Amino acid sequence: TRVRPSSKRCAVIGGSGFLGRHLVEKLLDRGYSVSVFDIRQSYELPGVTFLQGDLCDKQALLSALKDISLVFHCASPPPASDDRLLFERVNIQGTQTIIQACIDAGVQKLVLTSSASVVFEGTDIKNGKEDLPYAKKPIDYYTQTKIEQEKLVLEACDKQKGFLTVAIRPHGIFGPRDPQLVPTLVDAARQGKMKFIIGDGTNLVDFTYVENVVHGHILAAEHLRADSPICGKPYHITNDEPIRF
Ligand code: NAD
Repeated sequence: TRVRPSSKRCAVIGGSGFLGRHLVEKLLDRGYSVSVFDIRQSYELPGVTFLQGDLCDKQALLSALKDISLVFHCASPPPASDDRLLFERVNIQGTQTIIQACIDAGVQKLVLTSSASVVFEGTDIKNGKEDLPYAKKPIDYYTQTKIEQEKLVLEACDKQKGFLTVAIRPHGIFGPRDPQLVPTLVDAARQGKMKFIIGDGTNLVDFTYVENVVHGHILAAEHLRADSPICGKPYHITNDEPIRF
């Protein structure tokens, strides 16, 4: 019989990114041993093993996932690239490769970073729950592939095989080292591009503090057991109140 790897051995795919690095730091604090798998290495941290590779490369993944019991998948091409083929290759085919590699490597749990935009149809959602349907007309290619990716991961949940999955859906993540959200808004404001209101000024948008997103991921991972109702389900993680935008 095969010895199950320790439940405190995890890998963070996309661990060099904004969210990934915060997740890695918190996992270390909580006593996990962490491997990062990413196409780039953006920092050094004692106790973290870095493996550089493309998540579409199954062989590279298999060596990174050896003896790992828990995988966080928070890698994605930047939404702003709007590169349909790249999104399809990485978010859809790459996620299929991750699922297969996890199963082959004996990984027990996979936590996906999805996005709240998978249910966004272009109109305000207030108190939206996870039972909202997937957007029929996603707002862009990125979101379209995030929907497909989430379906693949949640459908792969298999209690019999001992492979459990869950998805976390944040929206607009902000916090220390945010490379995107706040800097883009500040730049736009500096260039005088914040003088216009789209709509009547009552549009709503959610932002999520990065540590809350991290907390949601770790809670999901630690509660993911065969007898848990969270198996194969998505969860929105946002701050309390949407902001008028
Ligand atoms: P990020 O760009 O900072 O990090 C993504 C990481 O993925 C990068 O380090 C990148 O090198 C890596 N990556 C990309 N392609 C890869 C590949 N082929 N193989 C291996 N690694 C690859 O992005 P982020 O803001 O930290 O986002 C993390 C996750 O959260 C993504 O799945 C994103 O869709 C989701 N998300 C982000 C936000 C947000 O506001 N930032 C909101 C909702 C959902």
